[in-house]
This record gives sequence, structure tokens and C-alpha cells, in this order.
Amino acid sequence: MSGLVPRPWIESLEVYEGGKSKTDGVAKAIKLSSNESALGPSPKAMEAYAAAVHTLHRYPDASYATLKQTIADKYGLEAKRIVCGIGSDEILKLACRAYVAPGDEVIYSRYGFMMYPIAAKSVGGVPVESEDKDYTADVDKILASVSDKTRLVFLANPNNPTGTYISVPEVERLHRGLPDNVLLVLDAAYAEFVAAQDYEAGIALASSASNVLMTRTFSKLYGLAALRLGWGYASADVAANLDRLRDPFNVPTPTELAGTAALTDIAFEEQAVAHNSHWLGWLTAEIGALGLQVVPSVTNFILIRFPGGEKSAEAANEFLLKKGYILRWLPGQGLGNCLRLTVGLEEDNRAVVALLKEFMDA
Ligand SMILES: *Cc1c(COP(=O)(O)O)cnc(C)c1O
Repeated sequence: MSGLVPRPWIESLEVYEGGKSKTDGVAKAIKLSSNESALGPSPKAMEAYAAAVHTLHRYPDASYATLKQTIADKYGLEAKRIVCGIGSDEILKLACRAYVAPGDEVIYSRYGFMMYPIAAKSVGGVPVESEDKDYTADVDKILASVSDKTRLVFLANPNNPTGTYISVPEVERLHRGLPDNVLLVLDAAYAEFVAAQDYEAGIALASSASNVLMTRTFSKLYGLAALRLGWGYASADVAANLDRLRDPFNVPTPTELAGTAALTDIAFEEQAVAHNSHWLGWLTAEIGALGLQVVPSVTNFILIRFPGGEKSAEAANEFLLKKGYILRWLPGQGLGNCLRLTVGLEEDNRAVVALLKEFMDA
């Protein structure tokens, strides 16, 4: 027996589970479970990453100035207010470390991103779930959940795993309703995919408000999930506090170079967006035509709702897994009647629809 006593909240922490990439008895499974980009990384990003192999003995630039400047130029931001992290997940956790003390409350919506309770609990914070409306964050419910212990609100916009978003006026209303000692974290991991006119990632609010942090990632549209690169934008004060907490060399040189190249490969970015918008529409229509309900999505994935009984999400999941197609079943999040499907390459999208038809017709 050890005399060590971990901090009291550590043992209640759940370990985040990523999407599966293997299924029994299938040699080469098709993974459509983690919202990774169908087209993979930009060839320019791959080249930049490969070229970095010659300087692996050098410590990275601790201020990743090139990457920050490239982000700043692309979006019209101030470089000194950008913080980069080991995926945007690190930024979410840094925000909790900086602003949430043990016992403080952290609000997120019912079907929000699974990392939020993990990030909150990792610092002894108390996760508080607010109810959704039609699989979408409900601003009134979030505001009603605020107490004098609230220190942080996470809003995934668009949201994962539902694919829905809330409009600029709604985000502004949420911000106006929060006390100024509450940090509003706008997690815009899927912003690059969104075409809706009334959507904005959070740049305007993060630029003007003192208590808003917008987070972005290279793991989704840019296809660099393996490199673990994300960034945040906030007031100079918030950015400085996150910077104090991060590891000095959290962004490795090959990652910085690949990320920088990806941001400037506009042609590839446009191709990835166009591929997604075409196949998102196609999948939504085709799967809807099978009698399944698809939650309207602005992202690179859709949430499919199953009727239950013999046609349950669990049975569909088993059926697809046997055929080598991995989707995401999320019973742990109270979405046991749903499967989340990431938009894939044409042949994979067509194959999944054909299999879902077979499942529904059987
Ligand atoms: C995928 C995802 C992220 C995290 O991405 P990183 O790989 O850590 O950058 C953050 N938020 C949401 C909503 C996501 O779906």
C-alpha cells in the first residue's frame, strides 16, 4: 500500500476515448469515427514536415513566431494574442488551469464536446450540464445555469457530436448575459467548414471582449490530427496567462512548419471545403431518404438518429463494423440511439449509404 494521496478529483476523471480505428476480422477498416479530413493533409504540409527531419536536434522556437504570424496574417489578428497548443485540447485545459479553482463551476451544453467535463475535472472544477434544444446549445438554459461559482462556459460552435451551430446574435446574447468574471470559450474546431451566413467563429468577440477565448484546430479541415496542433485567440491578458502555463516547447518544429504550410495552401483548403460541402449535402439527403433522421449539420460529420427496436443505432453499428466501416456510437453521452458519421471519400460515403440501406431494408 502506498501512502500517496492523489488530489481528490483525480480518481473520478474519465479517460478520453478516441474513435476506434480497428474492427475484428476486417483487414483494412474504413475509419469514419473521428471527424478527420477526408482528403488528408495538404501536400505542402507533408513536404514541410518531411523537410524538418534535418533539424530534429534543435529545440523549437519557443514563441513559434512564424506560425503565429501566419495565423495573424490570415485572419487579421494580433500575433501576441495567439496561443498555440498541443491540439486545441491543450488550450481548453489551459483555460481551466488558469481560471477554474477546485469547486468552481464549468458549464457546457448537454451534448457538448466530451473533453469539457474532463478539462473541468482535471483542475477540480465541477462540470455543470445545461439542456440542449433540438440537439443545439440553448442560450437561455446556459444562462440559467450560471451561479456565483461559475468561472467558465464552454461552447462548441459548431458542436461535436451534433453538427449544429448557433448564430452570431445568439453567441453575442450569451456573452452579454455572462458576468465578466466568467470566461466564455468558443471552441470553433469546425469553423472552416461552415458556410452559413449568420455564423462567425468568434474572432470578433475574442478581439473585442476581455473574457472570450476562441479556439481553433489543425486536426479537422487541415487534416493534421496526428501532429496535435491548435490555437486560441483572446485578450492580451488571457493570452498571457495561458502562455505562462503552457510548456515552453509545446509546439514541435515539424508541427509548426507543417501547420504554417497548411494555412497558406489556399487551393487545397478550398478543395477540402468543396469536397465536404458536396458530400455533406449528399449524405444528409441519401440517409434521410432511408427513413433515418439526420440532425442538420454544418460540419464534416452528421449525427444519424435511429428509430430503435430492431433498427437501433447499436445494431446498425454492429452491422457496419462487421463490414469494416467504423462510425461513432455515443451511448456514454446519452446518444445511444445515434451514430455519428464523418464525411469520407466518395467511395466510402457511397458504401456507407448502401450498407445503411441494406440494414434498414433487412
Ligand atoms: C476535434 C475537436 C477538438 C479538438 O481538437 P484537437 O485535435 O485537440 O485540436 C476540439 N473541439 C471539438 C468540438 C472537436 O470536435
